[in-house]
Amino acid sequence: MSAPPNLLQAFEREFGHLPRLIARAPGRVNLLGEHVDYSDGWVLPVAIDRCAWLAASPSQSTEVSIHALDLGESIAFDLKGLEDKLDLAGEDLPAWALYPAGVAWALRHAGHALTGMQCVLTSDVPIGSGLSSSAAIEVAFATAWQALADWQVPPMALAQLCQHAENDYVGVQCGLMDQFCSLHGIRDHALCFDTRTHEWECVPLPAEVSLVIADSGVRRRLGGSAYNQRRAACEQAARLLSERLPNVRALRDVTPSELQEHEQALPPSLRPIAEHVVSECKRVRLGAEVLKAGDAASFGKLMFEGHASLRDLYEVSSPELDALVEIASGIPGCLGARLTGAGFGGCTINLVEAAEASAFVDRLAAEYQRKMDREAMVWISRAVDGAGLVPVSR
Ligand code: ADP
Ligand code: MG
Repeated sequence: MSAPPNLLQAFEREFGHLPRLIARAPGRVNLLGEHVDYSDGWVLPVAIDRCAWLAASPSQSTEVSIHALDLGESIAFDLKGLEDKLDLAGEDLPAWALYPAGVAWALRHAGHALTGMQCVLTSDVPIGSGLSSSAAIEVAFATAWQALADWQVPPMALAQLCQHAENDYVGVQCGLMDQFCSLHGIRDHALCFDTRTHEWECVPLPAEVSLVIADSGVRRRLGGSAYNQRRAACEQAARLLSERLPNVRALRDVTPSELQEHEQALPPSLRPIAEHVVSECKRVRLGAEVLKAGDAASFGKLMFEGHASLRDLYEVSSPELDALVEIASGIPGCLGARLTGAGFGGCTINLVEAAEASAFVDRLAAEYQRKMDREAMVWISRAVDGAGLVPVSR
């Protein structure tokens, strides 16, 4: 993939020379395994061809100057004063600048030398749609700093530092999946990731299917409070089940038959919550197996089941996401569809026979418009390699 042409133009306009390097970091879409990461479950994300791009040069000082091209905003801060979250003029950093400043903070805490830099940031990962525009930005900055300061850490460690930045500097309690995927993505593959052990394997995507993403146009509503409430419910369910099943540390340790046997240990309100997580963990493991066997149709069925579980048991869907999945299920060539990301808005992911994919895109957009009186952005996506540097060339 090559960098957007306006990135170099903007860099030259801002700083009067060409950048030393360009870092690229992809967003991601999760094919299966939703709301299971905080139960130590398995997830199956794909790094996508929507990316954050960062053109950067080292500066002679400890100052970091960033031009956010998509926002038309510039900011400068000093690597020596990161704790204060202030810019050079002593003003609070704007929310978007907390991501790069947080990455610098986490890298420095871990003992990595950093250089000041001049940089321009742009990204075509839609913001707040569940495709992880935030992780893409963190990973782009971490990748650039690593290259400019000439040290190297394993990608999993870099992912954890980016997560640390988002958790403890920006203040968002995300898991590791997004940063992991942005760094480890493999072209034409999904990544089956164990969020407890951090073990992972790549799973080839069948060549005859396309990934189609549909952005409902609705940004997450109720996101934070519902997320915290579900998370607490999962922890409580695991605690109650562990009184009967001593090996249970999180819901990922419970099998579907164990849950059935010990359901009485849970108050009725927690049963559907636990059932979603336990069945979703099973779906991910089965999903990885059927994908390895090249069985896209079976994988698609698991996606539909996953959506129904998120809608009916976990209750994190929305009328728009349900409409997208229902419409998709009636379009020829659609093998599977489900909401992806935290829910309450954002995107669906669709598995579609490649030959039907472009007709699918048009029909899904048109029928959604008719049914919901809203515009969806629908596009064919690809699984790409994880973050790295691209040549600086016009
Ligand atoms: P997502 O699900 O897309 O990761 P988040 O709320 O976690 O949503 O992160 C979105 C935030 O990341 C934005 O509010 C902004 O602060 C930052 N961000 C994302 N894309 C850009 C961009 N292109 N330029 C500047 N900041 C961005
Ligand atoms: Mg995010």
